[in-house]
Amino acid sequence: MMMRPAATDVIVVGGGPIGLAIAWRLLHVGRTVTVVEADEPEAAWRVSAGMLSPPIEADYGQAELSLLSVAALADYPAFLAELEAESGIATHYARVGSLAVALDRDQLEALRRRFELLRDERQLAVAWLPGSECRELEPLLSPRVSAGIHAADDAQVDPRRLVGALRVAIARRGGILHDARVDGLELAGGRVVGVRVGDEGLAAGTVVLAAGAWMGSLGAQAAALRIRPVKGQILRLQTSAWPSMVVETEHIYAFRRPSGEVVLGATVEEQGFRPGVTAGGIFELLDEGLQPWRECEQTWLMGPAIKSTAVDVTETLDQKMAALHCHKSQIGDRDIDTFVKQRLRDAGRAFGMPYAETFRVISYRR
Ligand SMILES: Cc1cc2nc3c(=O)[nH]c(=O)nc-3n(C[C@H](O)[C@H](O)[C@H](O)COP(=O)(O)OP(=O)(O)OC[C@H]3O[C@@H](n4cnc5c(N)ncnc54)[C@H](O)[C@@H]3O)c2cc1C
Repeated sequence: MMMRPAATDVIVVGGGPIGLAIAWRLLHVGRTVTVVEADEPEAAWRVSAGMLSPPIEADYGQAELSLLSVAALADYPAFLAELEAESGIATHYARVGSLAVALDRDQLEALRRRFELLRDERQLAVAWLPGSECRELEPLLSPRVSAGIHAADDAQVDPRRLVGALRVAIARRGGILHDARVDGLELAGGRVVGVRVGDEGLAAGTVVLAAGAWMGSLGAQAAALRIRPVKGQILRLQTSAWPSMVVETEHIYAFRRPSGEVVLGATVEEQGFRPGVTAGGIFELLDEGLQPWRECEQTWLMGPAIKSTAVDVTETLDQKMAALHCHKSQIGDRDIDTFVKQRLRDAGRAFGMPYAETFRVISYRR
């Protein structure tokens, strides 16, 4: 294949948070950079919860990773302050803290062992709280919660806003954002010398691979890195009450976004690239995710085929459209009005409303 030199000396394959952050930092040290981004609808950053919680994520046998994550968390506010100043976009970073709780005897034992690992081996700033003190922090936690690990330094960020801010900051520094799929790597003498985009070869002195779970599709050399896709589903709930921090049980976490919605996540499924939401996934998230909480009576699900309830949005339609257009990083300048209004009209028809949002409401008898 004929190769032409790229306009820059670095090509970054993949414009998720990792590729973009690397590209932005390279621009800071005077390199010229092109980011090639395939716009995968299933990219991890689109659904990621954005928890920054090294103690909760820490696993046995991953000491270096754990310490690196803690050091990264300490540097994160400065990184984001610089990014927000350059891009003018707020990333909704908040140091909310996290609480990992135990709901039965087995979980209590496991949590105690994890606490000892974090405090004694990793020397992390974590506190062991009895159930009563967990409920002081999160009053709606169930009496079943017998203890918890509190990590006050843990934080959260909005991954979609983070990606949006990085894209703007890169463009402002003269980086090139190229919307295309890299189909493979170009090699010469055992070295990567460029990338293949359709029928074209683009040569560059440095190629950064940051295609997330799609790394294996770039050829045998990239596949040797053994990065594989793992499916994860999350639920986004409307609730006025809980929680104020990230709360985690053995399998599921819950946290509130600044927008007010509560996220329950995430399933971990060895399903490869199987897209879509599954009944089993939703059931697992509801079953596990609501256990630490009391006074949760209903869940409103948006999206399932069977709808039981509608909310008339006719009077607030204009504000709704204006609010949607504020999501610049996701919608940009696309004309979505016709599509969204048609959907709301279709949804309202069955309920005799001009425009509506429809839900499946699941009620719990406790
Ligand atoms: C449900 C879920 C919840 C998560 N929650 C958290 C959390 O709370 N905290 C946390 O720290 N992490 C979380 N993660 C993990 C986090 O999302 C990932 O670690 C992070 O997004 C990885 O960034 P990335 O840039 O490497 O990959 P991605 O975010 O997947 O981005 C890769 C990019 O590469 C592009 N691409 C792919 N193939 C090509 C190609 N051939 N050519 C060009 N571009 C290509 C894609 O379009 C995509 O934009 C979660 C993940 C999931 C799935």
